[in-house]
Amino acid sequence: MNVPFLDLHAGYLELKPEIDEAVARVLDSGWYLMGEQLEAFEIEYAAYLGVRHCIGVGNGLDALHLALQAMEVGPGDEVIVPSNTYIATWLAVSQTGATVVPVEPDQGTYNLDPARIEAAITERTRVICPVHLYGQPADMQPISDLATRYGLLVLEDAAQAQGARYQGQRVGGLGHAAGWSFYPGKNLGAMGDAGAVTTNDDVLAARVRLLRNYGSKQKYVHEIQGTNSRLDELQAAVLRVKLRHLDTWNARRARIASHYQQALQDTDLQLPVVLDQTEPVWHLYVVGSRQRDVLQRQLTEQGISTLIHYPCPPHLQGAYRSAGWSAGTFPISEHIHAEVLSLPIGPHLTDDQVEAVVQAVHHVSVTG
Ligand SMILES: *Cc1c(COP(=O)(O)O)cnc(C)c1O
Repeated sequence: MNVPFLDLHAGYLELKPEIDEAVARVLDSGWYLMGEQLEAFEIEYAAYLGVRHCIGVGNGLDALHLALQAMEVGPGDEVIVPSNTYIATWLAVSQTGATVVPVEPDQGTYNLDPARIEAAITERTRVICPVHLYGQPADMQPISDLATRYGLLVLEDAAQAQGARYQGQRVGGLGHAAGWSFYPGKNLGAMGDAGAVTTNDDVLAARVRLLRNYGSKQKYVHEIQGTNSRLDELQAAVLRVKLRHLDTWNARRARIASHYQQALQDTDLQLPVVLDQTEPVWHLYVVGSRQRDVLQRQLTEQGISTLIHYPCPPHLQGAYRSAGWSAGTFPISEHIHAEVLSLPIGPHLTDDQVEAVVQAVHHVSVTG
């Protein structure tokens, strides 16, 4: 049996009548940017998360970058980021002219290790940017406590965690602001690029609103030098439809994850560790193996598609060559990058496909 990593087309087919109708309504309206679909999505997503403000933007990278700009982060400032994350977290900081200060993750949860943050704080530090990696909430309480103690801001990179909860509260309102991506493969995904900033802070919200649209509230009046990063009406209409199904789809992911957790317990894979008081949304189901490349090859031979998130940490990418980090600088992150493998998980995997993955992994662990 062939098991795809993620079937986006199946997601469209399930909601086709609703999505087609929403898209047709936008096309017929003759209004394609900064209209009622965006306004409605912003209100609905803020309500879903329980935050005061949601500002739609062009993509997740812009969301993080605009939030940092609204926080007035710039050259000379430092921002603490996880050493293991998708490179967008780092690029958002670098685009402001500020310096990334990578901090190593916890080996078990793959998320920023709060115990390592304090040593990285200097008088230039302005923001801590935890990432809810793979859909698992970062340990926000100790991070917020540190931020309060040192007068820092907290920006959540929530791109992989639409709907996840920490201490009963949805992520995205746990810091001063959060950046979201609605890239098609995320748990809440558009049919193209889209993103958002959420915040409970009225001042930050007003700044992001100005920044995303040429620094303008009123046409042809430009209060600041903004950019063009808007969430268009078609994407907003699609996201409104999909938001209504997000909890159901996340619940399907959780069911698959819980099946994997039980069925793979007897293997020597490192299975995901879930922190107390968190409800992950299983954007990815990531296992660790010392024989990761062999495991991946043998799963591929059995028709099981897997991916590696991520094959190379940001500090060893060409993009950060000028910073001069060499192999061995962030050993925990490097170790993680060498061992992780993401098994298929998505709301449209069938029970048979999930079972095929489990069987294939068992087959590999005995033979390989
Ligand atoms: C997807 C992602 C982003 C960037 O989102 P885009 O919409 O692709 O710009 C940022 N951070 C993390 C952790 C992501 O997974």
